[in-house]
Amino acid sequence: MAQTTMAIRGPLVGQLFLLFAALLGNACSSDHDSTRTIPTADVIVINADVHTSDVGQPKAEGFAVRDGKLVLVGADEDVRALAGDDTEIIDANGATVLPGFVDGHTHLVSGAGLATGVDLSEIEDKDEWLRIIAEKVATVPDGKWILGGGWDQNLSDGILPTKEMLDSVAPGNPVWLRDIDGHSYWANSFAIELAEVTADSRVPRGGVIVVSPDTGEPTGVFKEGARVLFDNAPGMSEATDTEAGIRSAMALANTLGVTTVHDMSYEIDAFLSVLESTDLTVRIWQGARRDGGAFPREEFVAIAEERERIRKLVAATGLTETKGPLFELGYVKFMVDGALSGYTALMKEPYADNPKADPAPRTTQNELIKMVEYAHGNDIPVSIHAIGDRAVSWALDALAASPSKPGMLPDRIEHIEVVTPDDVERFRSLGIVASMQPHHATCCVGNYVIDRIGRQRLPNAYVWRSMLDHGIPLVLGSDWPTSPFNPLIQIADAVLRETRLDGVVRPWDEGNTLTFEEALYGYTQAGANMTSWSDQIGSISAGKWADFVILNDKLATPVDRSLASAQVAATYLAGTKVFP
Ligand SMILES: [Zn+2]
Repeated sequence: MAQTTMAIRGPLVGQLFLLFAALLGNACSSDHDSTRTIPTADVIVINADVHTSDVGQPKAEGFAVRDGKLVLVGADEDVRALAGDDTEIIDANGATVLPGFVDGHTHLVSGAGLATGVDLSEIEDKDEWLRIIAEKVATVPDGKWILGGGWDQNLSDGILPTKEMLDSVAPGNPVWLRDIDGHSYWANSFAIELAEVTADSRVPRGGVIVVSPDTGEPTGVFKEGARVLFDNAPGMSEATDTEAGIRSAMALANTLGVTTVHDMSYEIDAFLSVLESTDLTVRIWQGARRDGGAFPREEFVAIAEERERIRKLVAATGLTETKGPLFELGYVKFMVDGALSGYTALMKEPYADNPKADPAPRTTQNELIKMVEYAHGNDIPVSIHAIGDRAVSWALDALAASPSKPGMLPDRIEHIEVVTPDDVERFRSLGIVASMQPHHATCCVGNYVIDRIGRQRLPNAYVWRSMLDHGIPLVLGSDWPTSPFNPLIQIADAVLRETRLDGVVRPWDEGNTLTFEEALYGYTQAGANMTSWSDQIGSISAGKWADFVILNDKLATPVDRSLASAQVAATYLAGTKVFP
């Protein structure tokens, strides 16, 4: 039964509703109060500026929740009519209410350090880094590891930090901080001694211990594979406990209004353990990671079997009956290339500022073609990391060679930082989803992207609007911890498209901006559409699970820069408050 109102939905649905209500009212109520025909709600939200992400009913004043699901979305007076003696009434006081965010690309486990430790993301001033670290040190017992990071020397003075800087604020704790891209780590003397690392320690191929030319000692920065030198340091495994990390990452997600993620951590047992202890407060659409290299056919048979095993385990908990979908292995993730920053993205033409760079692919074209064939042969959709225009082409070639079968969920390409117009056409003809992260553009266009690709290729970079104009499904996300987890920052980036150019923050290539409603859809329903949960989550619509976010104020119309600093007042998953 369509439990909605005539004012908001079409007149036919409204009339049917009134007819049904009247019939029931006559049958079971002596005072002809038609509202008593719908059971009272557990929770109602009223007096709100609701953006639903439901194209059939984009705005509402409120909604009612019963047994974890939305039973009515519409005008205040219709919602109020469902309040009974035990109904919790949430008066939003005019604030904006949005669907729970669906982040299209996260790494919850690698981000856990940021959630529990220090977070230096987006901070330019190194003194401010040290102030934040000192603040953390004050709350941690002596000898305990301090993790996290998100530091980016390119945002400040371009110079790598040193162990001495950390020693000055954290003499009594080992400190180990990942940089924003996860390519380098920064340690203090305590950590280096604890891990028994010296300038002569052996590192895996490609790993680098940065050594001071003056002293011959490690400076405190460890690149790529050199990070493994710290894996077995005393206390590290307790400090990086995966389950604890998942819990803190989810708690952080909830503070930001995130209720669903497409996650790439691939720590199945840890997630299932958190699920079984009934603590999963974020719905997880998990990817089986097969990063780089070739995997044989049997590998994909095994993934399909694992997917079945997980389905049974999750169903056996019974939790999905009261909370909705929670955890599923949905796709396999491949990597074709690296990133523009380090000249490891595969480009069709040479890098503008380093024409000799000749990056090796993480997966060759033939390996990719084979693996897509194996995945599709086992009904597994694929997600392909491709940042440079050549990598995107390879991904499309492989998807064209082995199209997915009818009825399968769509395949997706991740990041797509540079793409040529002919390949944009191929996204549409092949039915491929574009999964993009707005802040990866705004952080870096003025910083190094223009240097790498030159102004001529700039119109091919971060083409959000072109994707939509070509009818290609566009899913937005953060790729946290490589960029801010906060969806409002990412949406503001998509709408404003501002970057630092020649020292001034200003919009660039404004033809590729999104409207607020488009960006919101990209951060909610579009992500749900890539899962088997599309009719259960992703919008504020009657019949769906009640995942929603109440902001502390009404967003400006049209939205402006204040969007990025808007605060989440409360987050609900299946009608239950998960934050604060
Ligand atoms: Zn990623």
